[in-house]
Parts: sequence; C-alpha cells; structure tokens
Amino acid sequence: MKILILGSGGREHTFAYKVAQSPKCDKLYVAPGNAGTADIAENVDLKVTDFESIKNFVLENEIGMLIVGPEDPLVQGITDFFAEDNALKQVKVIGPSKKGALLEGSKERAKEFMAMHKIPTAAYESFTEESLDAGKQFLETLKPPYVLKADGLAAGKGVLILEDLDEAKQELENMLAGKKFGNASAKVVIEEFLDGIELSVFVLTDGENYKILPTAKDYKRIGEGDTGLNTGGMGAISPVPFADKEFMTKIEERIVKPTVDGLRKEEIGYKGFIFIGLIKVGNEPYVIEYNVRMGDPETEVVLPRIKSDLVDLLDKTWNSQLDKTGLEIDERSAATVMLVSGGYPEAYEKGKEISGIDKIDDSIVFHAGTKNEGGKVVTSGGRVIAVTSFGEDYNKALKKSYQNAGKLHFDKMYYRKDLGFDLS
Ligand code: ATP
Repeated sequence: MKILILGSGGREHTFAYKVAQSPKCDKLYVAPGNAGTADIAENVDLKVTDFESIKNFVLENEIGMLIVGPEDPLVQGITDFFAEDNALKQVKVIGPSKKGALLEGSKERAKEFMAMHKIPTAAYESFTEESLDAGKQFLETLKPPYVLKADGLAAGKGVLILEDLDEAKQELENMLAGKKFGNASAKVVIEEFLDGIELSVFVLTDGENYKILPTAKDYKRIGEGDTGLNTGGMGAISPVPFADKEFMTKIEERIVKPTVDGLRKEEIGYKGFIFIGLIKVGNEPYVIEYNVRMGDPETEVVLPRIKSDLVDLLDKTWNSQLDKTGLEIDERSAATVMLVSGGYPEAYEKGKEISGIDKIDDSIVFHAGTKNEGGKVVTSGGRVIAVTSFGEDYNKALKKSYQNAGKLHFDKMYYRKDLGFDLS
C-alpha cells in the first residue's frame, strides 16, 4: 500500500519511522515533511489544509492510506472531504470526522460531551459577549486560581490561569469583547481549577473497539522546574511511573470506555487517535482536554514502544477490526529530549547548520523543525530535533538521550536538562 502522512514535525517523522518499518508499506510520502522524513520517505510540497491539492496527489499516486498528523485538517473536515468523494472514499483516512474533531475544536463541545457521558472533568460554565456580566458573576463564585479557556483552537495559547479575580474578569472581557484570540474566544469556558499532576493517555479507536496505547507525560514549559513560557513540548517520557495498574483501570472504566461508547451512541465517525489530557487529583483521574490526534513530543516516546506493525493496526482501525488484533508493547521506558532554537517560544533565528547527527549512538533522532539546504541539514523551526532513547526506567532512558543530545550542535541550541524532575 502507498501511504501519505500529513504534517512536518517530530510527530510525523516518528509516524514515518514506524510506517516505513512495515512490510505493508510499499511507498511512503510525507507532506510537507522535514529533513528527517526526506531520509526515509519522499517529501511532497503540499499544504496540510489544501484539500484539493491533496486530493489530486492522492489520485495521481494511488495512495491507499492517509495518516493525518495535526489537528487543523481534521477540524476543517478532511475525513469527510474524502468520505464524500466517490473517487476518494476507499482511501483509508486515519483521523476522525469533522464532528469527532470538534472534541478538540470546541472546548465547550468537549465539556458537553463529557457531561452527557458522565466522564469526570472540572465543573464549568461557558459564556459569550452577550453573557459577559454573568461570566464575571460566575467568577465571583469560584475560588482562585481562575481557569479561562477560549472555546476554539488557539495554537495552545488559549488557556489562561489567573490568581487575581479582577484580572480574571478583565481577561474574560478581553477574550469575549476584545477578541483576544479572535473568533476562537467568541465563547469562553470558565472552569474549576484542578490541583494535581498531569499525564496523557492515548487511544486508538475504530469507533467501536479501542486499544489503549502507552501513557506519556510531557514537559511544556521552556524553563527548568516547569517555569517560563509554554512551548509545544520540551520532552516526554513513557510510561508514566505513577499510572499504575489500579489507576489505569480507573482511566479505562471511567474515561476510555465512556468516551468510545459516547462516540458510538452519538454516531460520530471516529477512526483514529484520541489523546486524552488527564490530571490526577488525589488518586482520581479527571479529563483536562481531548485532542483528536497524537501529541508532539509524546508520539516520539509512544510509537517507538509499540512493537506491533503500525500499518496493520491502522488498517484494522479503518476496517473496524481493532478487536481482531493484539497490541505488543516494549516493556522498556522511552524518553525524548527536545532541542530547540535559542529564543523559542518567542522570536528565534532559523537556518543554523545542525552537526553531530552521525555521532548519535543508541538513540533515535526525530527531526522536527529541520530542512535540507545546500547539502546541509539546517534549523527551520523553534523545536528542532527530538532525541529518543530506551532504558530500563525513565531515568536511564533520559540519561542516554542527554548523552546523545550533547553530541548535537547548532548555534544557540537549548534544551531542558531536568526532565523527570517531578517524578522522583
Ligand atoms: P494544549 O496546548 O495542550 O493543546 P490547550 O490550549 O488545548 O492545551 P488545555 O489542555 O485545556 O488547553 O489547557 C492547557 C493547560 O492548562 C493544561 O495542560 C493544564 O496544565 C492547564 N489546565 C487546563 N485546565 C485546567 C484545570 N481545570 N485545572 C488546572 N489546570 C488546568
């Protein structure tokens, strides 16, 4: 089968790495890809939301499976676009329908879904510009910190957590009346603050059956000790040491099963990944958010631990046969360390030559923001390279990644050296 992966980050390089290992893959394309995917697949210069161009490429190249990496094409309806076109409907698109993607595309919708299916999550109310005063009154009934969430997609920046009531009221006004996040904050969800430790659980579902993939914990802040600005993710480990069997049973019974049952009952077409952002409060799991695709950098630790043939799993997902296959997981821990451009997540320079990749020993280099230029690999984004390693436990895996990260170099390279600090 010929396979096309949409996206250009570390997540997509990791997908390409796993897909390329499958005997079921005859030819692999990544659009637009990066310098890492160019080594194992053919990069194609397509925009992930340009459905017409993707359609033409798929037809011309007889693509049998389309794996959608990022959320934008899903929220914009790429799955429905393929399903509704006679020439394309046989293509195995891995990703939910537009209706399913709303679980990520609208935080209010996600909260309604959880309420409807009795899935534990923070208490909430949502407000529009018309109900701004009611929103301010609602804030007065809550204890700090105050959690304000733009309803729509805001590139991971749409959540504000504020200590001060007056500031929270002002920000609510900025979001609703001042369109702080454009149309994404035309509605705002205000929710109860949950105090605990976060983790992510990944599920592959065909809409009826599901497989729970390895858990992961990512590190979002730029600075050590979880300080400074939020980033796309500075590293991750898998599995999460505090997600023991008992806790995982709670997650499966209270969250995963009701989520998949809810999709089925609401007749929402969903053949793809569900990324459940969770918080452990005391010993109980609560859902913080749904994402309708894999996470980055979590993918860089989750997929390498899957020993089963990924293309076979995705094929069974599309054919609603996930119950007819097992899932083999590598028992070892995996850790990934993200090397970023100096200045990220604020302004940073691009085009820096990356050296040392050939010196990496016993780790996997997943490219994120890289490209080939004049025979060299250069930086082309904020997050540049993820170094993934295996180990008996997360500390040993991290140690290996740090040893190898030290062999890589580009001007103003930065990475966090304290990953896992909150786990021991
Ligand atoms: P992402 O960048 O992961 O896509 P997002 O912008 O979609 O995030 P959320 O994941 O809902 O938004 O929230 C971002 C972060 O804010 C969470 O990872 C968590 O740390 C914090 N957070 C969100 N909701 C709550 C809550 N109710 N209580 C405590 N912290 C919260």
